[in-house]
Amino acid sequence: MRYSRLFGKTTKTAPADETAKNAQLLLKAGFIYKEMAGVYAYLPLGLRVTEKIKQIIREEMNAVGGQEIIMTTLQRKELWEKTDRWSDEAVDIWFKAQLKNGSEVGLAWSHEEPITDMVKNYVGSYRDLPFCVYQFQNKLRNETRAKSGIMRTREFVMKDLYSYARNNEEHQVIYDAMTQAYLRIFDRVGLGEQTYFTFASGGAFTQFSHEFQTVTPAGEDTIYLYRAKRLAVNKEVLNDEVLAQLDLKREELEEVAASEVGNIFNFGTTKSEQLGLMFTDEDGKTKPVVLGSYGIGIGRLMGVIVEHYADERGIVWPKSVAPALVHIVSLKAKDEAMAERIEQIASSLHDELENLGIETIWDERDASAGEKFADADLIGIPLRLVVSEKTLKEDSVEWKLRSSTESRFVKLDDVLEEIEVYVSE
Ligand code: ATP
Ligand code: MG
Repeated sequence: MRYSRLFGKTTKTAPADETAKNAQLLLKAGFIYKEMAGVYAYLPLGLRVTEKIKQIIREEMNAVGGQEIIMTTLQRKELWEKTDRWSDEAVDIWFKAQLKNGSEVGLAWSHEEPITDMVKNYVGSYRDLPFCVYQFQNKLRNETRAKSGIMRTREFVMKDLYSYARNNEEHQVIYDAMTQAYLRIFDRVGLGEQTYFTFASGGAFTQFSHEFQTVTPAGEDTIYLYRAKRLAVNKEVLNDEVLAQLDLKREELEEVAASEVGNIFNFGTTKSEQLGLMFTDEDGKTKPVVLGSYGIGIGRLMGVIVEHYADERGIVWPKSVAPALVHIVSLKAKDEAMAERIEQIASSLHDELENLGIETIWDERDASAGEKFADADLIGIPLRLVVSEKTLKEDSVEWKLRSSTESRFVKLDDVLEEIEVYVSE
């Protein structure tokens, strides 16, 4: 991709009302556009990142038997009334709307109710169970606060998976597999070390729900880490009884700020009972289905990645979610023949990389070296290659990783091969 043609430009300043580091950097680097407080559009670079994150999640969900679907944003009021979750007192983040005939509809903030109601049409016997369905779908939430950039928004894409099982044992097997899949996801996006399996409130029949909390000063939650066991307890459930139950000592815990990037939840049979999702078991008895719910906020995860992978000059994307892997910077030259040679080398390098399926941005603008380097640092592509008079005098390009301060020259003859090795590492 030629940078001059890329939709979305870097800017020196972010909107004055934007206080979160993640949004400031993403706005300045041209990844997102702020529509209003807590509502952001994704530009080509930003969309590429979200698609990378989604693909990692999709692979891990499919690997544990998830099947992708997509539900609707408009929801039926009566379903949520059946479970006592329609009123604004019960759920304080609803957006609601009206049809022309005056009847009310809900705008999706979650999907347990409509999915469970839909599932009734496809489940009759024990043979139809268990299964897991998931989607990447917009959630609309009328959040009071929206001060964490893309980490807390009023409209966001969530991956939500729902598991339907015949009994608690079967549910637990799925729940454990999902836990492992979640840990792999956070690992693959580069947050494995910082993300903790956390005991939190909620969950029917089980005392806890489990959150995946990433340690970051930008987080809105307070959790207590037990590093050695790689687990944590959310402040909201921390008390002597819970500590005893989890065999933890208060003085061994470390209080930190964290952001909830994922949440998994056992609904037990409550929802199925409320909505009438029953099946006939092998013993001929009619039983309610056990429901599990498993969410990851895509925007929040991207925001947390940016909070973690940034320095004073800009974003430092991990390879796995970077919008491109290579950023070619070609510099100006006074001598016309040299300028042409630089252009020609950079151009063919760009084309060859794209042909190999290696996403590349080529900054071919008629701009100063300083401006191009500053933009490359802000955007944060993992590998920067400079083509200039200086490098071509040595038949080379300059190779510099965004995550490092060092650079070196690589011969033109070797550069493709080296990039292929780097990409596959
Ligand atoms: P929080 O406690 O942060 O408000 P929640 O408990 O309401 O979140 P869930 O309903 O469990 O969130 O949603 C699942 C996931 O969706 C969360 O783990 C988080 O990653 C993401 N998420 C929730 N609310 C938002 C939001 N307003 N903006 C962006 N992502 C969100
Ligand atoms: Mg939650």
